[in-house]
Amino acid sequence: MLFSELARYYQKLEDVSSRLKMIDIMADIFKNADKDEIKSIIYMTEGVLAPAFEGLDFGVAEKLLEEAIAVAAGMDKGEVEKAYKKYGDMGIAAQELISQSKLRRMNAKKYSVLEVYGVMNKIAVTSGSGSKDAKIKMLAELLAGSSPEEAKFMARYPIGQLRLGAGDSTILEALSVAFTGSRESKAELENAYNICSDLGYIGEVLSKKGISEVRSLKVSLFKPIRPALAERLPTAEEIIKKMGGKCAVEQKYDGFRCQVHKSGKKVKIYSRNLEETTDMLPDIAKAAITEINEEHIIFEGEALGMNEATGEFLPFQETMQRKRKHGITEKIEELPLHLVAFDIMYLNGKDLMKEPYEARRNLLENAVKGAKMITPSKRIITTEPKELEEFFETSVEGGLEGIVAKDLKAPYIAGARKFSWIKMKRSYKGELSDTLDLVIVGYFLGRGSRTEFKFGGLLCAAYNKKRDMFETISKIGTGFTEANMQAFYELLSKAVVKQKPARVDSLITPDFWVEPKYVITVKADEITKSPMHTCGMQEDRSGEKAGYALRFPRIVGDGFIRRDKSPEDATSTSEIIEMFNDQKRVSVK
Ligand code: AMP
Repeated sequence: MLFSELARYYQKLEDVSSRLKMIDIMADIFKNADKDEIKSIIYMTEGVLAPAFEGLDFGVAEKLLEEAIAVAAGMDKGEVEKAYKKYGDMGIAAQELISQSKLRRMNAKKYSVLEVYGVMNKIAVTSGSGSKDAKIKMLAELLAGSSPEEAKFMARYPIGQLRLGAGDSTILEALSVAFTGSRESKAELENAYNICSDLGYIGEVLSKKGISEVRSLKVSLFKPIRPALAERLPTAEEIIKKMGGKCAVEQKYDGFRCQVHKSGKKVKIYSRNLEETTDMLPDIAKAAITEINEEHIIFEGEALGMNEATGEFLPFQETMQRKRKHGITEKIEELPLHLVAFDIMYLNGKDLMKEPYEARRNLLENAVKGAKMITPSKRIITTEPKELEEFFETSVEGGLEGIVAKDLKAPYIAGARKFSWIKMKRSYKGELSDTLDLVIVGYFLGRGSRTEFKFGGLLCAAYNKKRDMFETISKIGTGFTEANMQAFYELLSKAVVKQKPARVDSLITPDFWVEPKYVITVKADEITKSPMHTCGMQEDRSGEKAGYALRFPRIVGDGFIRRDKSPEDATSTSEIIEMFNDQKRVSVK
């Protein structure tokens, strides 16, 4: 496929306002591409070069791109800066300048998708001294040979501003339509994606070998599994009941989730959002080699600091100090991490995902036997709510977050929040003190005393997994410092899109729509019903439509973006409904 053709499709994706149409356009792209191109097209559409766990960044800053556009268009850098300021979008700036460039006709090329992807890869792997100039040269050559329409997307791609609005779920559905003729295989594709976290790879296997091959994909070393997530319930009675009368109850540790892959002396560690973090955790990587009895293993646990004198685990804020890229060696001595292991997914060639929890737990305990820095989570097995409650209280008194109950018979359910794991934290036992992770879908200008700011508040949404849509739940106008507002403005003004993104469902129109990609943590006093918001919107008995909203919402923490969460990791609509119901139950008591 020519890149110009892909750019035409991307333009259509940008213009479309319905998710279903997006799927049709993407399915057309896949149908019209060569099988060898599918993988690259998927990565491009996601705005990346490879799956997140490979950590391949473009290494292209806006300034570098401006220089490349200037060279390509035969203009001064100042003109590019001016155009960028004018349009607020590097893609449109490049499109305009390339169309005005006198060099263009001389250099016109017909790039294939693979050529463009290949150059972008080269740009990404170019590092070290002189790499900046080399990157500028490669980008400039690419842009100089392109049409204005191609330049628009070429310029946006390496700075992460493609803004096509296609999430994992949309891409999977389009793959299903393109290669199996209906949406029905989406669930199977999703299962396969959950065990390898690589959409490009799934697309390639599907297009080349068909759905039966996708069905039989197995867990493999150094391809991280999308983590299992826990549901929540507020009381011990409800947990035992939901678990069918008997379950395991593990302590819940508040640190960093680590998925460890080990094969001989090679170890890689992945975070909850599947980025590789081995370099940040050399002590844990070493312990995995020296302390684990098994040759080939994938297991999971929570890494956290410990007060060596008392044997108590440290609170999250203290463990967090280890999350750094520099000065790690000194910090390791000061704050060594322990890994509390709680699951195992693969052992010496055997995929354990379908094994029941109890069998996996035995294998896990055996694998970490005798280890010092890696220990299995503490747990009990019980049929009694009272015993669960006591275990919970002792855990909380010991400085832990709470407990996670586990269904003894359940397989490892990758990438999903299911009742096979149920968490109970102290905070659920009262008012709504748990926080929500919400996706920013728009923002407002400053009003009243804030008119001097170009930012006055956010429009935020929860993620409805079934619909693959972002549904609004709150406007947030309080809790911002001046520095915050400035920072939000700078970040969000670069993510503005001209119309409501196709996957956003909203009755409110903000001053600016933004591409749903940033997640923030929000606290509120209560979840209420409101006709203004689309989150979980349904008709009530009187025929009035109402969704869920937040009372007194405010931004928490240092008030900034949760880089560890993708928009699809935001609190889901079904979680909001559960929290709303739990809140009612607690307040009735
Ligand atoms: P939350 O982040 O509140 O949704 O809780 C789920 C997280 O708890 C998981 O992602 C793990 O990182 C963490 N966790 C701590 N201890 C355990 C445990 N024993 N079993 C499972 N997850 C645990």
